[in-house]
Amino acid sequence: MAGTLYLVPTPIGNLGDISPRMADTLAQADFIAAEDTRVSLKLLNHLGLKKPMVSYYRHNTQAGGQAVLDRLLAGEDCALVTDAGTPAISDPGQELVARCAELGIGVVAIPGPCALVTALAVSGQPTDRFTFEGFLPMNKKNRKAHLDRLKGEERTMVFYEAPHKLSATLSDLKDAFGGQRPISVCRELSKLHEQVLRLTLEQAVEWYESNEPKGEFVLVVRGAEPVQEPEATLEDGLARVLVLRQGGASLKDAVKQAARELDLSKNELYDLALGH
Ligand code: SAM
Repeated sequence: MAGTLYLVPTPIGNLGDISPRMADTLAQADFIAAEDTRVSLKLLNHLGLKKPMVSYYRHNTQAGGQAVLDRLLAGEDCALVTDAGTPAISDPGQELVARCAELGIGVVAIPGPCALVTALAVSGQPTDRFTFEGFLPMNKKNRKAHLDRLKGEERTMVFYEAPHKLSATLSDLKDAFGGQRPISVCRELSKLHEQVLRLTLEQAVEWYESNEPKGEFVLVVRGAEPVQEPEATLEDGLARVLVLRQGGASLKDAVKQAARELDLSKNELYDLALGH
């Protein structure tokens, strides 16, 4: 019988975020597939664990992935870890999970640290609907096209960014969404210098003109204001009733349908329509 692939999140800064289940899963796995074995070795040392490790990183998902799959198919359990946070979220893992799903190999995701969720929760921006954008494309033309597509996005948008590209990205966001759009710049989450700046895009650009960006960042940008559809009036309803009547509908059916389509009161529309 095939083994199981466990996706094991690791702290995004604070070792106190290691959960008992996370540690147990690492302890019980037959081997660990790690994005960077040197980084994960430190974590294993911290937990007092010794485990066989293999590399699974962005540029070896084909060969590294096949080696992991072969061992899973032979019955071994694998714990997949990345340098920080949840595997498969802007990190290696998604192809491996997809291949496991195709081959009928069980996958278990252990809940745990993820910069996206932590930033969204602390941002103060609407969290009921959001879109995770990860890292923006580096190529200028692709980046602009991507941001153009997001101009009307009404959901909160979450971006990852590296410190040396932060200022340029804030300027690009300001150009795309306007200077008054609210943003929460979430820095060094769960670490000593954790900071959440809740600003407009214009203020954020200005802030980082005089403060060098240091550490890791998640940018949580408020979505566009919804475009309000004008509410239909009884006169709109009457016009619709007349069209439906011309198409052969009875007065009662036409009123019922028009009221439903335009979200109007059936009785009021009926009274108005009777006079025409
Ligand atoms: N898989 C990870 C996760 O679950 O969040 C994300 C990995 S991605 C390669 C790394 C990016 O995540 C960083 O560039 C930064 O945008 C964000 N990040 C990771 N740790 C962070 C932290 N402690 N504070 C703020 N952002 C962080």
